[in-house]
Formats: sequence, C-alpha cells, structure tokens
Amino acid sequence: MTDGLVAPHGGRLIDREVGGDEAAALQAKAKSLPQLTISSRALSDLELIANGALSPLEGYMTKAQYTSVVETMRLPGGEAWSLPVTASATSEEAQSLKDGQQIALVGNDGEPLAVLDLEERYDYDKQAEAQHVYRTTDEAHPGVAAMYAQGDVLLGGKVTLFRKVSTAFAEHRLTPAMTRAAFAERGWKTVVGFQTRNPVHRAHEYLQKTAMEIVDGLLLHPLVGDTKDDDIPPDVRMQCYQVLLDGYYPSDRVLLSVLPAAMRYAGPREAIFHAMVRKNYGCSHFIVGRDHAGVGDYYGTYDAQAIFGEFTPAELGMTPLMFEHSFYCTSCQGMASSKTCPHGAEQRVFLSGTKVREMLAAGEAPPPEFSRPEVAKVLIDSMSGGGVQSGAGGSGGGA
Ligand code: ADP
Repeated sequence: MTDGLVAPHGGRLIDREVGGDEAAALQAKAKSLPQLTISSRALSDLELIANGALSPLEGYMTKAQYTSVVETMRLPGGEAWSLPVTASATSEEAQSLKDGQQIALVGNDGEPLAVLDLEERYDYDKQAEAQHVYRTTDEAHPGVAAMYAQGDVLLGGKVTLFRKVSTAFAEHRLTPAMTRAAFAERGWKTVVGFQTRNPVHRAHEYLQKTAMEIVDGLLLHPLVGDTKDDDIPPDVRMQCYQVLLDGYYPSDRVLLSVLPAAMRYAGPREAIFHAMVRKNYGCSHFIVGRDHAGVGDYYGTYDAQAIFGEFTPAELGMTPLMFEHSFYCTSCQGMASSKTCPHGAEQRVFLSGTKVREMLAAGEAPPPEFSRPEVAKVLIDSMSGGGVQSGAGGSGGGA
C-alpha cells in the first residue's frame, strides 16, 4: 500500500463486486441458474466479502477453511480468523445442487444479487461450532440460536456480487477502499476503530477520546446489521452519533461510517473478528473495552481482551487498545477507570441498563455524567414515538 496506512489482512483488499456491463451480463445469466435464498446474516457477509471487509476471504468458507477457523482460529494459510463465514442450505436444497456449479444467491427482495461458484457442500457439527466459537451450546445465546436455525449443509465457494445488498445509510456506508481513501485524504496514518451496537455514552466517549490522544483519527464504526430485538435500532443510534459528533468531537479527526455486519455476540472470538475487519477498513488500532461483543453472563469481563494474547503481534498486524471498565467519578470529577481512580464504588456514577431504560421510558434523562443530554433526548424522543422499547441502556454504565 502506498497510502501509509496499515496493510489489509492477508496483504491485499479483496474485491468481489462487478459493475457496468459485467454486472448486467452476470445478472442476466443468474436468471437461468439455480436460485438459493440466503439468510440475513449470510447476506450481510456477502456485502462484506465483496467489498473486502473480510479480506482475505473471497467467498463463503470451504470445509478446510471452516474446520481450521473453528478449531484453530486461523485460516489454512495461517492468517488469524476467529469466526465462520458461511452460507447454509437445507438438506433438500443441497441435494438439488452440484459441486462445481454456479448458483444465484437471492436476497430478501426475491431477486438474485450474486453468483456463488459452488466449490463444495459439506455437513457440519452445530454443537461443536457453538462450543468452540461461542463457548456455550446454550440455545438461549442469541448467536448460538441464529446458528442452530441455519440449514444443515454449508456451501463453500467464491462469490461475485453484481447488485448492491442494501443502500441504507448510503452516505455512511463506506467500503474499506473508501474509508482508506478518506483517511489518506486527511493525511491520517494511524486510525483507531471503535465498534459499537449501542448509543455512545460517556464511557464510550472516554475510551474514544483517550485513544484519539495517541492516533491521527477515529473511525466511529457502528455495526448496523442484525442485532438482538432489544438492542436500539440503527437509525436511532445514527441520530445519537450525529448529535454527539456535532457537539463534542473535532470534525476533522473523526469519520462516521457504518459496518453492515450482523452481530454474533460471540464475545472474545468476535473481538478478534471485529479487529481484523477494522484493519481492512484501514485502522491501525482497535478499542476493546469491557465485555466486548458479549451478551448475558456467557463471558468474563475481560475475556475479549485476553484472547488477543493467543496471537502474535505479526498475526494481528494492528494494535488492540484495551480499556478497563470506565465510569464517571464524583471525587475525580471526570471519567476514569480503576487504573486511574483511587475512589470507591459510592463515588462512581453507575446505572444499570434496566435503570436507564426505565428513566428514558419515563421521559427522564440519565445524569449528564452517564449520557450527554443531546443523546438522551434522541433516545427519549424515539421511545415516545414508539421506536425503542428497551435496550437503551447499552453498556456505557456497566449494565
Ligand atoms: P459491543 O457489544 O460490540 O461490545 P458496545 O456498544 O456495547 O458494543 O461497546 C462498544 C465498545 O465499548 C466495546 O469495546 C466495549 O467493550 C466498550 N465498552 C462499553 N462500555 C464500557 C465501559 N463502561 N467501560 C469500558 N469499556 C466499555
């Protein structure tokens, strides 16, 4: 790369999207191919494979890739990779297909949008995947439940996208090539990526701004693919990010863009995945706080940090920035963590997620030490409009 930014995972950005005449020809051809409707998660992955966010992947995993990733957290080529990226089919659907054949992948509007060069169909052990990847076989875990609901056969092979998967948040739906170009244009060499599926509360802001002291810029990169039903919808979150950036961040040091990935809630394994994906978007650094990508009490508070120790710095090719649980301390009169604050629990502004939800539902803003008033207002307005039922607490206060 000549832009001075971190190299993509595996060395080069994959591009599996065609346009113009090539797209028109493939679209015409797809009509006569066997059609397979893929899940919402596979659809999100399709967009990310095509635009290079999942480099070095060029398609849905083959059996060798899948097994290697599930069992060793590495691709057969040795690159760090922690989550399966797969397309599934029912046994009946799989029986009607042939290895070596081309298949049209169909989106939720019923129209084909990509071609899969089907390399192989293979069986997989869902319980084993759950145990390795999610560290639990409990179907109450939302990521495990989504995987259990998949078809029983996986389809591996390269994909070629000829039509956009979605145009939602078009202005902020930047591909890795686009974020890299934006960073280069601003002269940034070091960029910290921030993953979130929540509104940005003061704790998140503290993490971001602490990191911004040592890098050139921040990529605020909220995930907007499928999340749990009780998480805040992405359109409301985007409003929160916008008011926060307008009021409290230097505009020339932040880029807001969306990550159209589905949330797996796989905790530690997903933290590695989130980091490698952000490296593809051009981030040299990535923030990992408390219970990153966790859900319920399936993972220890810092498991998602500890897992980075299972990789060498060369395998990661970027720098994770680990943060302890952060809070506002009334004695310090500022944001802090136990690494910087000597005071006790009674000085720390702590609100459970349930408490925050109750306050917002009652039209009451959480204290400004927890959430910026502008952000609280967006959340209260969206709830009174019936948009958000719950989940507004996020993890900013340690709920
Ligand atoms: P996710 O579920 O993907 O981790 P969140 O929006 O809950 O998304 O969190 C975004 C990031 O902020 C994660 O790295 C998480 O660990 C971190 N984080 C959230 N709240 C806190 C907190 N109070 N203290 C430290 N880190 C936090």
